[in-house]
Amino acid sequence: MRIFDPHIHMTSRTTDDYARMAAAGVRAVVEPAFWLGQPRTGPQSFTDYFDSLIGWEPFRASQFGIRHHATIALNPKEANDRRCRPVLDLLPRYLAKDGVVAVGEIGYDSMTADEDEAFAAQLALAIEHDLPALVHTPHRDKARGTERSIAVVRESGIDPGRVVLDHLNELTVAPALEAGLWAGFSIYPDTKMSPDRMVKILSEYGLDRVLVNSAADWGRSDPLLTLRTGEEMLAAGFTEDDVDRVLWRNPVAFFSQSGRLDLSDAAETGATFAGNSILRGGS
Ligand SMILES: [Zn+2]
Repeated sequence: MRIFDPHIHMTSRTTDDYARMAAAGVRAVVEPAFWLGQPRTGPQSFTDYFDSLIGWEPFRASQFGIRHHATIALNPKEANDRRCRPVLDLLPRYLAKDGVVAVGEIGYDSMTADEDEAFAAQLALAIEHDLPALVHTPHRDKARGTERSIAVVRESGIDPGRVVLDHLNELTVAPALEAGLWAGFSIYPDTKMSPDRMVKILSEYGLDRVLVNSAADWGRSDPLLTLRTGEEMLAAGFTEDDVDRVLWRNPVAFFSQSGRLDLSDAAETGATFAGNSILRGGS
């Protein structure tokens, strides 16, 4: 099984995770910019983080034979902090970089006026930079947050086929697909969405425009839940080709729209890695 995890926060994971992922067949990842737990107090802190997403983290992944790309944005949560707003002015510089394959995560956390403004401004940046957009749907009040996100995407004029609405569930998948957007699902160990629920959604809605990720962030999460979902698909009667479509070809198709996805060797070489001696050095 070859796996492309289209939404995983490797910044919050260890080298053990990278090793387990490589052994499980994960060959490519996209890491969206998000919050770092501790609130940031100004734009400088974001530039160091963004630099690490396009420099250090791809290097760390490469030690395990994993291709790493990033999406860059001011996340919805911190869009509410006035001290962080100037980050919006820094984004064009990053959206021009090779390893950046979308604008994200954007969208809503608490659905405030500040979030509205940052969301719309960043969809405009996606259009301007000819990049797809990765939209986070809020964990509270998800149905309303999803409807409102779809409305904002429509108003922006971006091609809905270039937008993924992420963290969806049984209630929000239909509106996303009907609006022509991609549907993203974050699989968690014990909340929000599980491998067996995901397989039911795939049975009901089909495999078109669906992305499955493990999110793997600061909360309790598991970077191998993409693999578990593939295994559950096979157990439920889906074919190997179906699994490859959901866990590899779909994310490749979505992020290829950036014109920057570089998977040279990633599809064939798989889970060989050179060891992590370099990473043992400087910490
Ligand atoms: Zn995320």
